[in-house]
Parts: sequence; structure tokens; C-alpha cells
Amino acid sequence: MNLVLMGLPGAGKGTQAEKIVEHYDIPHISTGDMFRAAIKEGTQLGLKAKSFMDQGNLVPDEVTIGIVRERLNKQDCENGFLLDGFPRTVAQAEALETITKELNKQIDYVINIDVDQSILMERLTGRRICKDCGATYHLVFNPPAKEGVCDKCGGELYQRADDNAETVSTRLSVNVKQSQPLLDFYQEKGYLRNINGNQDINIVFEDVRQLLAGVKQ
Ligand SMILES: [Zn+2]
Repeated sequence: MNLVLMGLPGAGKGTQAEKIVEHYDIPHISTGDMFRAAIKEGTQLGLKAKSFMDQGNLVPDEVTIGIVRERLNKQDCENGFLLDGFPRTVAQAEALETITKELNKQIDYVINIDVDQSILMERLTGRRICKDCGATYHLVFNPPAKEGVCDKCGGELYQRADDNAETVSTRLSVNVKQSQPLLDFYQEKGYLRNINGNQDINIVFEDVRQLLAGVKQ
């Protein structure tokens, strides 16, 4: 079961990733973890990646792709893997095609957790923080008993600048713009499956399970 997971910020990708890897017992391969592991192991590519990161530069594709190849070739990927955060671009997706072919594997599905823009906005702008004790709330998922007031200490609740509608909306449009060519690429390849992420977390996972029931193990 070789999977790629996609979704915009606020789509609940992290939650679904956890559920998928636990249920199917496959490794969760996120870009960050992959880099950290390669650096810790001191592989040649890991050290190369580190030298770019230490200088505050983006790790070039050839290094990233090499690290992905090493990772997917490890024993624990024999029965499958869940890629999260890679590929980010069509060039990386094309490289992934080459890697999987070399390793005699094939991507089964690219799962895109699809959530309406208005719901993403609601999820991403709903956070409130207490000025006095730092307790966090969410207007929808974890509202305070009294609007604008901290349950714990009675302090005033505020919204971080990162969470305001304009910032969030800009972040979302940047993400949409970046991910669209990738979604188109996978649509054309026939790998893309959109999962309705507007629903409750458990129902979203039910849909994922139904989809994956069709994959030969
Ligand atoms: Zn408080």
C-alpha cells in the first residue's frame, strides 16, 4: 500500500496520517522526519542536506530526492508507506515516479483531503489565546464558556496575528496555487482520489478505509 497524502492547511491531514499509519501499519514518511533521520544517521545525503539547512537555504531537489530514494528502499517500506509533504512539485512527483520504478514499487493512490475554503477559514481563524495564562481555545471546537473570556483565569482572549483572516486567506491561496499543478499531474496519472474532508474526522477516515479496501496487500 504505497500512498501519498495531500491536503491544505487545516484539512486534517496530520490526523488522517496518524490514523492511516496506525491502521495499516505502514511508516509515515514526512519530509521533516526524513531529513532529521538522514542527518542523524550521518548519510552522505543527510550531511549535504544539513549544510544547506545550516545556511538557511532550501535543500535542492536532487538531495531531497536522493533522501527519499534511500528512505523508500528501507525494509520497513516493504509493505507500503505513506508519504506526507513530498512531493511538493511536479518535478518532484516525476522524480518519485522514477524512484518507485527503480525500486519496483508503484504509487497506489494519492489521497487528497478536500475541504471547502470556508470551512478551512473557520478552522484556521478560530483560535483564541488567553492574554494572562496562555490557555488556547477554538471558537468552534473548544469555545470558552463566556465569549472572549478565559475559563481558567478570567483573562481576555485574543487572536494571534498569524490566525487573522487576511493572513490565513493569503496562506491558503499560496498553498492552492502550489498544489494545483501536482493535483492535476496525479489526476492525469489516475492516482488521485479526493476524500471529502468537510466531515467529522472519523467519517473521513471511514472513507479512506473504504477507498483502501480496494488496494491489494
Ligand atoms: Zn487564562
